[in-house]
Amino acid sequence: MTFNPLTVRDDFPIFKRTIRDGKRLVYLDSGATSQKPQVVIDSELDFYRLSNAAVHRGAHQLAEEATDLFEGARGKVAEFLGAETDEVIFTKGATESLNLIAYAMGNAPRGNRFHLSEGDRIVLTEMEHHANLIPWQQLAARTGAELVWFNVTPDGRLDLSQISELITPKSKVVALTHQSNVLGTINPLDEIVKAAHAVGAVVVLDACQSVPHMKVDVKELGVDFLAFSGHKALGPTGVGIMWGKRELLAELPPFLTGGSMIADVTMTTASWAKAPAKFEAGVPNMAQAVGLGVAIDYLSVIGMNEIAAHEHELTADLLGKLLENKEIRVVGPHTMDNRGGALSFTVADIHPHDLGQFLDSQGIAVRTGHHCAWPLTRSLGVPATTRASLYLYNTIEDNDALISGIHSAMKYFGK
Ligand code: PLP
Repeated sequence: MTFNPLTVRDDFPIFKRTIRDGKRLVYLDSGATSQKPQVVIDSELDFYRLSNAAVHRGAHQLAEEATDLFEGARGKVAEFLGAETDEVIFTKGATESLNLIAYAMGNAPRGNRFHLSEGDRIVLTEMEHHANLIPWQQLAARTGAELVWFNVTPDGRLDLSQISELITPKSKVVALTHQSNVLGTINPLDEIVKAAHAVGAVVVLDACQSVPHMKVDVKELGVDFLAFSGHKALGPTGVGIMWGKRELLAELPPFLTGGSMIADVTMTTASWAKAPAKFEAGVPNMAQAVGLGVAIDYLSVIGMNEIAAHEHELTADLLGKLLENKEIRVVGPHTMDNRGGALSFTVADIHPHDLGQFLDSQGIAVRTGHHCAWPLTRSLGVPATTRASLYLYNTIEDNDALISGIHSAMKYFGK
């Protein structure tokens, strides 16, 4: 049974406000960050009001309660992803998770399976968000490894014809996005994971735009590492997840060092605790992690398959309506096969920033620019695009408001 997005909206206090002089808020920017249900907001507040203490440290009741809440949230994330609890690392967001993996690999000594040097390859795709591009550029610069990448076809898919040329015995890491934040493309992981594992490379999945929107089971996907941000999945800002296979986390050196991540310390040496502690130096973002656990409960009660079905319906509707207008160029796939709810487009020769501003004046929140994927925008041959991104609280009425806003903008700009 599908859910009613109008009932869902009632759980989100932000939809009770109006925007731009009393207009209904049409929020089409969940790809950047999602709105938060009241239960998530309350959980963060309650942590500070009732249970605040440093986790894993104090010998008192509050510390025990805070630790139980924090570790409870880790358990919820693990169950949500089909992972083991000790494979789930709290970070402050996907950007930190991806930097953690890349920096930790850079710390790997010779003989460690993650050690990279000249002659090794890091395989990326042209559709990566900067968060899954720049850490690898930096790692390549530090180690002498070569950066290679899948190109994107004109219809917004990965050019898989390059697979055997890119993934070779020299390839140590294949890092790619599950769902493009610009194109909406859902990438074909099976083939890529198989090719990577055949040559002993690890697969790092940027799941920022998939975990909030569909059922993601790390064991079914077969990837080795995964990253996502809590704030795109109804959770608070300041918390994200880095998941890795247990045996790989055991071999991966730490990234940040300091308190809580050690087994033993002398004045000149230190040894590491086991994961997850090994990757969680310092007092973590506790209230935020607890809030993420509550967000996951909220999503799970509705059901990820139901959410994906709702978004599929909305995306098909909006895609169809955008494609009807010959002045609109949708830059992602024009069919619904392996396509999610991020829809980027240009309208005639109206600059996306002007369009975004016009839509904002109508109460419609979209994102404009290169969406932190500058190489992709360049390869598409556009200076920027306008992006509408859909989530569980959006409705056909939101789609229609966008289409009508675009038509008004075209009239306003004389197109
Ligand atoms: N990867 C993708 C595909 C994204 O869409 C984003 C955020 O937009 C990120 C990574 C970075 O996420 P954060 O800024 O929350 O660390």
